[in-house]
Amino acid sequence: MNSYLKESDPEIYNLIEEEKKLESEKLRLIPSENYASCAVLETTGSILTNKYSEGYPKKRYYEGQQAIDKIELLAIKRAKKLFGAEHVNVQPNSGSPANMAVYFALLEMGDKILGMNLSHGGHLTHGSPVNFSGKYYNFISYGVDKETEMLDMDEVRKIAEKEKPKIILSGFTAYPRRVDFKAFHKIAESVGAISMADISHIAGLIAAGVHPSPFPFTDVVTTTTHKTLRGPRGAIILCKKKFGKAVDKAVFPGLQGGPHEHSIAAKAVAFKEAERPEFKEYAKQIVKNAKALAEYLMENGFKLVSDGTDTHLILINVVKSKGISGKPFAKALDKAGIICNFNTIPFDRRPPFDPSGVRIGTPAITSRGMKETEMKKIADFMLKVSENIDNEEALTKIAEEVKSMCSEFPAPGIERI
Ligand SMILES: *Cc1c(COP(=O)(O)O)cnc(C)c1O
Repeated sequence: MNSYLKESDPEIYNLIEEEKKLESEKLRLIPSENYASCAVLETTGSILTNKYSEGYPKKRYYEGQQAIDKIELLAIKRAKKLFGAEHVNVQPNSGSPANMAVYFALLEMGDKILGMNLSHGGHLTHGSPVNFSGKYYNFISYGVDKETEMLDMDEVRKIAEKEKPKIILSGFTAYPRRVDFKAFHKIAESVGAISMADISHIAGLIAAGVHPSPFPFTDVVTTTTHKTLRGPRGAIILCKKKFGKAVDKAVFPGLQGGPHEHSIAAKAVAFKEAERPEFKEYAKQIVKNAKALAEYLMENGFKLVSDGTDTHLILINVVKSKGISGKPFAKALDKAGIICNFNTIPFDRRPPFDPSGVRIGTPAITSRGMKETEMKKIADFMLKVSENIDNEEALTKIAEEVKSMCSEFPAPGIERI
């Protein structure tokens, strides 16, 4: 297909080739990124992008939905089965609009939501003052324990009992430990709140049974489809039947117009892939790799938030480890061919544009087939970078070694595997 693009728009063609090279030659450690399969990419780039289908299967505002209805129903059926959910909406265009739709469905402006402190791992849409969520709703927060840097459910309960929020939100963007969704739901139930889990980061681990599931008890669950789930850019909302109507109305016509059926079809493809035994092995390996990488990093003198991980994600306290702040370390890693992001850590005293931590994760490198042996090498690369943060020559040399290691692990969607 790219041969058409090469002819009609060489500028964009060449930029895609440039990105392809970056995604193939570098170690992608951003925990929210992955490599979608060739089948998912092919579906995303299909003629389904041509069709308008406002509404829902069998209740559309446009004709000619014979194939589209079947696609969307299949996506819904597969998502229900994969997660064990009663009701699914597969139309949200991304994680942020999915969360927005849930708030629209279940709250009035100004209502109270209890979520995770953003600097302890909550997402922008969990009440950041620069985000719609913080502007239109009254967010209050719980955080992690100062000593263990893990969630303290007694603390969550205390705040919930005092504040009586309408929604209690769990699910995070920078929390490395297992989340007790059942405990969250029980607390919500006891104070008359709706339990909501945003499982964007760990949906693939949950689908594979590697992380405890928020189903069937959690009232409403949102997730992106492009992180550990390895699907296309997009999101879905899963909920109990009694919230289904409100959620559907909030997505369309409340928030979105015509659904992106090319993405919805690609979501269906990803849900089918996630049912396969290979995917379960893949998800297990993501966590094995993260645990191994965490161990090797600690052996190399890195201090990790909560001293380890149960998931795909690791948060390094770089200041405490090496006396460097997050941003220069992330920039030096980039020069060495290792892509991650700087990140605040709980109780960070540094500003968000140069915080104390970097956040890494294993989903993308595990999609390439890397295992524990490579995790040791990555931990050693990272140590070397920390010792050579201003030494351009040394960083370039590490980048060569990284490239050589990456060449042994073909990237799905780029190389045809
Ligand atoms: C990534 C993420 C989102 C937002 O998803 P986008 O597709 O980037 O809008 C929402 N919540 C959590 C917890 C996330 O990790």
